[in-house]
Amino acid sequence: MELQGRYRQVRDNIAAAARKSRRDPREITLVAVTKNAPDDQVKALLEMGQVHFAESKVQQLQTRVETFNAMDRGGAPPGGAPPIWHMVGHLQRNKVKPATQLAQYIHSVDSLRLSEEIQMLADRMEKVVQIMMEVNTSGEARKFGVAVGAAQHLAEQIDTMESVHLVGLMTMAPKTRDVETQRRCFIRLREIFEEIRFRKIGGNHFVHLSMGMSQDYAVAVEEGATMVRVGTALFGEGPE
Ligand SMILES: *Cc1c(COP(=O)(O)O)cnc(C)c1O
Repeated sequence: MELQGRYRQVRDNIAAAARKSRRDPREITLVAVTKNAPDDQVKALLEMGQVHFAESKVQQLQTRVETFNAMDRGGAPPGGAPPIWHMVGHLQRNKVKPATQLAQYIHSVDSLRLSEEIQMLADRMEKVVQIMMEVNTSGEARKFGVAVGAAQHLAEQIDTMESVHLVGLMTMAPKTRDVETQRRCFIRLREIFEEIRFRKIGGNHFVHLSMGMSQDYAVAVEEGATMVRVGTALFGEGPE
């Protein structure tokens, strides 16, 4: 299957999972994780109407955004929306500056120091960065993400910052084919989300659950994802 077919397939699967859980498919934003995809595939997807794109490494985000910013309207077709870039991978503190500069959304904020750094830089750049807090919902299986028990406190701290908006939570399920393990992670994230929202932390901005990748995006949608981050299912394996 080629790109267009895979793109249709992924969107159909999202819509089917949404309907299965009685949700409106329009509540769910597909974020295309471009990683190893060649620029012409990214351009092709833009021309098919895809708007949200992500990279998982700052260096790749830099190269990609430079390439597309050099094009007319960020590479978008006539009448189409220019791309919106997301940073989804683990963020090192020494890479915060370019990430803050280039991304409209950062999904992987998991410490106070990191959020303070983004706040300081965003303030200096006179912009507002939309961030999501990454939560480690799978326990020791992952080394990134704030611990479940610390999530609410960190959310409160981020909520005091002026130039970052806490727009939601992000998690990654472990690499497994076991659907119930995946589902448990997503349910846990949704519960933390609901608790934070109940306490009005993040205010009206706090609306997103970024969860689900190629292996598990349908399960994530069933459990309430508003953003799914899909790479391989769109672009294939690619060279690592
Ligand atoms: C690579 C990556 C994805 C997409 O993964 P696929 O399995 O290729 O869909 C999503 N989120 C993050 C943080 C990633 O690094």
